[in-house]
Amino acid sequence: MTATAVSNDWRSRFDERIMRSIGMPLAKLERGEGAYVWDDEGREYLDFLAGIAVNALGHAHPVFVEAVAQQAARLAHVSNYFTTEPALELAERIVRLAGAGDEGRAWFGNSGAEANEAAFKLARLNNGGGGRTRVLALVDAFHGRTMGSLALTGKPHMRQAFEPLPGGVEHIPATIEALDASIDDAVAALIVEPIQGEAGVVELPAGFLEAARELTRRHGALLIVDEIQTGAGRTGAWFGFQHAGIVPDAITVAKGIGGGFPIGGLVTFGRASSLYQKGMHGSTFGGNPLATAVSNAVLGEIERAGLVENAAVRGAQLRERVARIGSPLVAGTRGRGLLVGVALADPAAQAVVAESMRHGLIVNAANDHTIRIAPPLTIGDAELDEFEARFGAALAAASA
Ligand code: PLP
Repeated sequence: MTATAVSNDWRSRFDERIMRSIGMPLAKLERGEGAYVWDDEGREYLDFLAGIAVNALGHAHPVFVEAVAQQAARLAHVSNYFTTEPALELAERIVRLAGAGDEGRAWFGNSGAEANEAAFKLARLNNGGGGRTRVLALVDAFHGRTMGSLALTGKPHMRQAFEPLPGGVEHIPATIEALDASIDDAVAALIVEPIQGEAGVVELPAGFLEAARELTRRHGALLIVDEIQTGAGRTGAWFGFQHAGIVPDAITVAKGIGGGFPIGGLVTFGRASSLYQKGMHGSTFGGNPLATAVSNAVLGEIERAGLVENAAVRGAQLRERVARIGSPLVAGTRGRGLLVGVALADPAAQAVVAESMRHGLIVNAANDHTIRIAPPLTIGDAELDEFEARFGAALAAASA
């Protein structure tokens, strides 16, 4: 067999046997360490996507590896008929980090979409005796691919093939005026991302979350913040809503809180904590000791190593590095902490991603005009130096 035949073999296997719901992968990866991964041909990549804002500690971090190994050897799964110390500890930890106080409660599932399903059901429980049937979400929002989370997602091209979706959801523009005009006493909940990651790292307008808090409170609606991409310290605060100094009724979490181990969750505040009653929701795997032990270890390490602060500092430096490259293809940067969007002057995002791969760098095209960058929260000067060199070369090649 020729070298090319060997290197392309995984592509034909993928093409033949993996469900056609996703496109052809960029590479077949074999191992990782810190902010680097290696493919099946031994090529090294600086991973500035971190599994789409998931690998908060980078790859194969000793704390992560030890937590998986130790808990797997002790007790991996028990079902919702039992509780375990890791589950109790994670609920206490995440309620504390979210600032949900004495009334805070947590529910755990296995993914972001599942967390948003739990949040959607929470909205239905805030039905005001049957009069609250409306749920507001934002145009361009991304909340997941299951039927409920897809109903909350404001991207018509993702929804169309799967309609009819669960009803009552309306998508409004992300402006205070639109929210003010749309909200009334028939609204059960408003769900928002603090930064719309999938839409291209788009921040909410200044004052939006504060206004949303005020308007939802006035009308008895829940304010649910989707922290799946922005949580676990990524934006330079434990959760994105904390930059606005508001207290939501619920947040959903996933991605970074597991650092690479699948886990999602719903955290409720105040009166929202008493909406779910016995038997209303559940998940066989949800909150199992393996996932919660790993999440405790990941969040504990983020705390111990000051990685929330690191995300703030390194995020600002990363944006300076992008500006310093001085590429005519770059129109500017958006985002907060280590969730960065590079706005392109041309619809060249796919070409930039391809050139980045060729130059040993993993980034992502959030849309035609935006490169999304979400590295591990552990990065320092050395990774930023490498990033600047590789991204600079990729941008030069893509604009040639
Ligand atoms: N919500 C947001 C804001 C997300 O970014 C994502 C995933 O990208 C999801 C929900 C869905 O999470 P998952 O892919 O774990 O179902």
